[in-house]
Amino acid sequence: MKNKLLEHLSRLLLIDNDRCPVCKKILWKKEAYLCDQCLRELPKNDARTCRRCGRPLSSDDADLCSACRDDAKRPIDRGWVWLVYGRAAEQIAAGFKFNYQKTLAYWAGAQMAQDLADCPWMAEVDALIPVPLHPNRLSERGYNQSEQLAAGIASGLNERGIEITLDVERLKRVVDTPHQLGQPAAFRLKNVKNAFDVVDPERVYGKRIALVDDVMTTGATLDACAAALKQAGAADVAVITFAAVPS
Ligand SMILES: [Zn+2]
Ligand SMILES: [Zn+2]
Repeated sequence: MKNKLLEHLSRLLLIDNDRCPVCKKILWKKEAYLCDQCLRELPKNDARTCRRCGRPLSSDDADLCSACRDDAKRPIDRGWVWLVYGRAAEQIAAGFKFNYQKTLAYWAGAQMAQDLADCPWMAEVDALIPVPLHPNRLSERGYNQSEQLAAGIASGLNERGIEITLDVERLKRVVDTPHQLGQPAAFRLKNVKNAFDVVDPERVYGKRIALVDDVMTTGATLDACAAALKQAGAADVAVITFAAVPS
């Protein structure tokens, strides 16, 4: 009887003993996904950012990050990054990328939308397109974390009166590229070039698209997606990322 009562009480107060993905503290029921302290201390990307892709700048950079400086013809027109990549962003992204926490990605997207609603060009975007996974990777993981992020963003923005279409059919990953993690920049670029196809290109013709991805490292994947969309006639391609490695 006593045990039952204890179990009931702990169920009432805790989410099945879920832990904060950043500090590993047991979460209280009111703390969905992240503990209050880690949520407050998230490293938002609100200092100087690249005027093209949104990446956090280093003190040596003027107004462009090194990637945008090195390639003046980058197919990315604008960008918005939620977090500066570091331990916190890494732990959360690991949760929704490798630990099968599908709803954590959706929650992160909804959190992003609260800040993204203030982004001046957001209301002009016609469609959100998540960076797709190859079908092999999709069946491995069971979901696409970028699609979950994008779904959370779309619903969060809609709640704030910004109507935006989520288009998960438009972009296809046609090459099953090896894992990018820990690979040098040149390898990453070659690895993903021509890895993406646009389905029914007339659907993006003349449209303003925002690509959604989890982590921007070199930006090679986003560049490849943006290039495919531009080739299909997209008028403007923005990138929205959960976190980006500083320039
Ligand atoms: Zn925490
Ligand atoms: Zn940049």
